Amino acid sequence: MLVECQQCGGEVAVPSDAISGEIVSCKDCGSEYEAVIGSQGTIELKSAEKVGEDWGE
Ligand SMILES: [Zn+2]
Repeated sequence: MLVECQQCGGEVAVPSDAISGEIVSCKDCGSEYEAVIGSQGTIELKSAEKVGEDWGE
């Protein structure tokens, strides 16, 4: 699934088996996003840069 990059308008590829919270990056500009999968299967991109490095698991 391709989602529009919020930075450059390019296409960000999100794997069809992506899980919510998966980090994807734009191949055009390198921006990183967190893929948020909705219950309807919708995919939204949240800028990972804003969230910082607080991924810790
Ligand atoms: Zn981009």
